[in-house]
Amino acid sequence: MKSFLRQTAEHLITQHGFDELREVAIVMPSQRGALYLKTQLAQLGERPFLSPKIMTIEEFALQMTDSELMDPISLLMEAFASFKEVDQQVDFDRFVSWGQLMLKDFDVLDLYLVDPVQLFSFLSEAKSLERWGQEYGEDHPEKFITENTKAYFQLYDHLLEVYLRLKSRLESLGLVYRGMAYRRLVENLEKGIALTKNFKKIYFVGFNALSKAEEEIIRLLLKQGLAETLWDADEYYVKNKFHRAGNWLRNYAHPASQDYLARGPFLWMGKHLLEDPKKVQILGVANPSAQIYVAMEAIRQWAYTNGDQEQVALVLGDESLLDQVTQYIGEFKDRLNITMGFSIKKTQVFSLITLWWELTQRGIDGRFPMSHFMKLWNHPLVQVYVKYWSKQNPIVDSEWLQSKLGTDSLYVSFETIKAINIPLLHHVLVNVESDFSEILGHIKGFINQILRAYPANEWDEEAQAIQQAFDVCETLETSIQDRFPISFKSGKILLMQLLQQQKLTFEGPDHSSRTLHVMGLLETRTLDFDRVIILSLNEGSLPGTRKRESLIPTDIANMSYFSLPTFTQADAVTSYHFYRLLQRAQEVILCYVQPSEKSNIKEMSRFIKQIRFDWKKKNPNLILEEPILQLGQPKVQREEHVNRIEKTGDMRQKIKDGLQKRGLSASSVSMLMTCSMKYYFSQIVGLRDEKQSDDDMGADVFGTWIHKVLEIIDSEIIEKFQGNLDQVDWNDKINHLDDYLNQAIREIEKEKGLFELEKGFNYVLKEVAKTILENYLQASPQWESQAIELLVVEGSLETMVNISVDGETWPVKIKGRIDRMDRLGTNTIRIIDYKTGKVEQKDLKIGEDLMSELTSEDIKEKLFQLWLYKFLLGSELLKPSEERVDYLKQIQAENILIQPGIISFRNLGPKVLTENIEFSENQPLVAFLKESEQLVSHWVQRLIDPLAPFEKTANLEDCQYCDFKGICHREV
Ligand code: SF4
Repeated sequence: MKSFLRQTAEHLITQHGFDELREVAIVMPSQRGALYLKTQLAQLGERPFLSPKIMTIEEFALQMTDSELMDPISLLMEAFASFKEVDQQVDFDRFVSWGQLMLKDFDVLDLYLVDPVQLFSFLSEAKSLERWGQEYGEDHPEKFITENTKAYFQLYDHLLEVYLRLKSRLESLGLVYRGMAYRRLVENLEKGIALTKNFKKIYFVGFNALSKAEEEIIRLLLKQGLAETLWDADEYYVKNKFHRAGNWLRNYAHPASQDYLARGPFLWMGKHLLEDPKKVQILGVANPSAQIYVAMEAIRQWAYTNGDQEQVALVLGDESLLDQVTQYIGEFKDRLNITMGFSIKKTQVFSLITLWWELTQRGIDGRFPMSHFMKLWNHPLVQVYVKYWSKQNPIVDSEWLQSKLGTDSLYVSFETIKAINIPLLHHVLVNVESDFSEILGHIKGFINQILRAYPANEWDEEAQAIQQAFDVCETLETSIQDRFPISFKSGKILLMQLLQQQKLTFEGPDHSSRTLHVMGLLETRTLDFDRVIILSLNEGSLPGTRKRESLIPTDIANMSYFSLPTFTQADAVTSYHFYRLLQRAQEVILCYVQPSEKSNIKEMSRFIKQIRFDWKKKNPNLILEEPILQLGQPKVQREEHVNRIEKTGDMRQKIKDGLQKRGLSASSVSMLMTCSMKYYFSQIVGLRDEKQSDDDMGADVFGTWIHKVLEIIDSEIIEKFQGNLDQVDWNDKINHLDDYLNQAIREIEKEKGLFELEKGFNYVLKEVAKTILENYLQASPQWESQAIELLVVEGSLETMVNISVDGETWPVKIKGRIDRMDRLGTNTIRIIDYKTGKVEQKDLKIGEDLMSELTSEDIKEKLFQLWLYKFLLGSELLKPSEERVDYLKQIQAENILIQPGIISFRNLGPKVLTENIEFSENQPLVAFLKESEQLVSHWVQRLIDPLAPFEKTANLEDCQYCDFKGICHREV
């Protein structure tokens, strides 16, 4: 089967013949694609000929505008100088932490041709507060503005000016950053300025998901009749309008779309995924390393049956697997081509430089802590040096060193180190107050000494990494020359950032003829393979984590007005690369790691699920095998793409199982009423939400943060004062709110990833959280005249109710989480739910009677929650005390009043919001519980009602924030 690049090469030759090719330019998504296209052209050449100009789109934009790219550190310096012109107060130590983000945003702004004046005006204080007020249901958000938040908004007020000044500085130097070159090329083409180089034709080959600027460049060149586009597309994802992989190509191919980028139907539209015979194996393994064994075995087997001339790709979804792969793949070294870079972060020189910083910054009062000094001394690379040094000098070993340093001391002085007189160690004697150029000189000297000591006959990747680290120091030195002084702290950030971006390459110049390729998914662009193995097909790896880093808040970036890239688009890009890679492969192994409670590995990738439920039924020649059982994975049904799911006998069984295991809660009942399809996905299939990981915290994380702080404070009260609220010094709690907030966010980060509180809108949210908590902690102690004793925080209660369904008994779990339970006076037990959103008394209002309210199709979720709390607590209290949860064992159940309530931080005026939860006046608890069972029975009957299938909601607004809109094809 012809590869895409072979088709392209043949097309070029047919169109131009060999002699004209030199006058043609070919623009491609990657350098690697360019290299392999050259190989294809050469193979087709009957005689030597001059190759066309093949380049990446970045190279094209630079060449066509005659621009030169500025190196990242010099760019950061220029950006700082521009900022300083706008704000004299800005200091480099702070700037260095967010300056890179700012530059990334400027780049994206230009790549997507966003009007900077419009965008930055959206980031102003007034606009941000307006948006925030809407999102969090706050009518007067301006009351949360403090001195600190003002400083945050000031940054945004400066951004437009900085952007404009930076551009004019770069223009005067004749330099650009990437996006700037793209925007300039678009502007030139719009003005009719000719390209700086003349080509007969410019081909754009193998693109997908272009930025706005790239689209414009192609469109303007098409208009001039200069360009032609060649796409690698397959009907499977292009013709299915719901398939994300085809999102872009559908638009590029559609004459009515404003993104139309072809001059007619695509030249090639394959049906490989729909018709070609393929064998696909899906394998779930217990841990990441086991995948490598699977891959090695498959490569061996394929080599045995098909020889080693076939093209095989081993694609690592999680690139950190590379170091393990390199340990095992040596047996194929003659055909091996590792195109991925190995992160320098994983090398010894990186850990050595990290130790160097740790030691030198502890060099206070002319001495180092002995433990830090010894850590550095014992580092393997320092030991390489020591061995080398010992060849010409007295034997230097640990014993010798101890004799010089003494045995008991906790510190080693600079004087002692000088006296030891080993040249390498002179480079740790650094004055941290000196300018960074001097400090950098020491780091360079330190690395260079080790490099020179490295035995020439043992030169390996580690030595290559040391050389690369040394080169990075030299580049940095040149970039900061003749600029303003840089401190130890900023210099450290700069150098470590640069080092972390470095990759060691394994690729040799003669590797293009090799047949076994280890690569990342992005590197497969435009390439085709006979056999493919993809590892780590887990959510979080493929597709990757949805983490965005930007100064531009997510809600603004997502506004369609600006057309900036979104997470959905990022997923669609990965989806295209994934399916394109499978197009021409005959055999594919897809490997994922089975998640377990102990690991943080996420569930299998959605791509595997799509293959099972969609691709499989569309290609009759696809052999799909799953030799290893999927453990613990929910089986998504084929019906998931339809609009309704009938409640068949099987489905009834699933509902029954779900009610027993997951049970009913206030939110699940409300979900059933809002959209029964959502209930199906969440409660029957057990799908987890598709939450994005984001630098900016959304309303959900903000709510968790407030809850967490109160959980910490309430737990302290239980521990220190046995829950007695009278003894609490509330002012002290208020004064320490910063500490509580920090402690709480650190705990949340363990699950949700890092949230930098000094960055972006999070800074404002912290102030808001503080104000909300302060208001609450000030007001609530005055609310009750009776004593309050906290019984539990973050508890949970559940009970089983047996419901009769068509003569069968169905056990139904009823469950609820409790933010706080306390005893008010002597005989009232309250269950309190904290709400960060606004809840009002009308949300709890009982109209006709409680049963009608709670069985209504338009159910009041908060009222249901109060009923549920009373039902759960009542059921628990009726048990013999020894069978109850610990915190209720001591409670005398007789004469106890149960009061469920809600504290709404957006509505503290009414204090604890509550309602008289009973089905009839003065109803005894036992009767209340009995009648509650009828309520449960109502919902179970409603759930299994065959006349009410699970259906998608008709209200599209409900889909907007739904976690399942992706699989539901309700992307809005
Ligand atoms: S996307 Fe819409 S229709 Fe689909 S489950 Fe969510 S709310 Fe229901």
